[in-house]
Amino acid sequence: MPTVMAGAVLISHERAILLGRRMARRRAGWMADKERDHVGLCAHCRHVRRIKSDRGSIFYQCGLARTDPNFSKYPALPVIQCPGYERAQSSGDEQS
Ligand code: SF4
Repeated sequence: MPTVMAGAVLISHERAILLGRRMARRRAGWMADKERDHVGLCAHCRHVRRIKSDRGSIFYQCGLARTDPNFSKYPALPVIQCPGYERAQSSGDEQS
């Protein structure tokens, strides 16, 4: 059975793959928590559209601003309260 080095411990190739996947899931969860803290409600609102700049910055555009002047196109973050907030069904449910 092939082995790979992980620190000073020898583990199987299959075990290394499982550990890598677990670390990726933890990192994804940590990133989602970080975004929620920084962005607030827009992070998981169905009306938000994430816009990535050439430099890698992410801007959160409110879709309701197109039809309702009460909403800012680029709301000040973090958004703590919002009358237009509707939770996205899943992470892929936001506008793009
Ligand atoms: S409706 Fe509110 S929470 Fe949703 S994207 Fe617009 S500003 Fe953010």
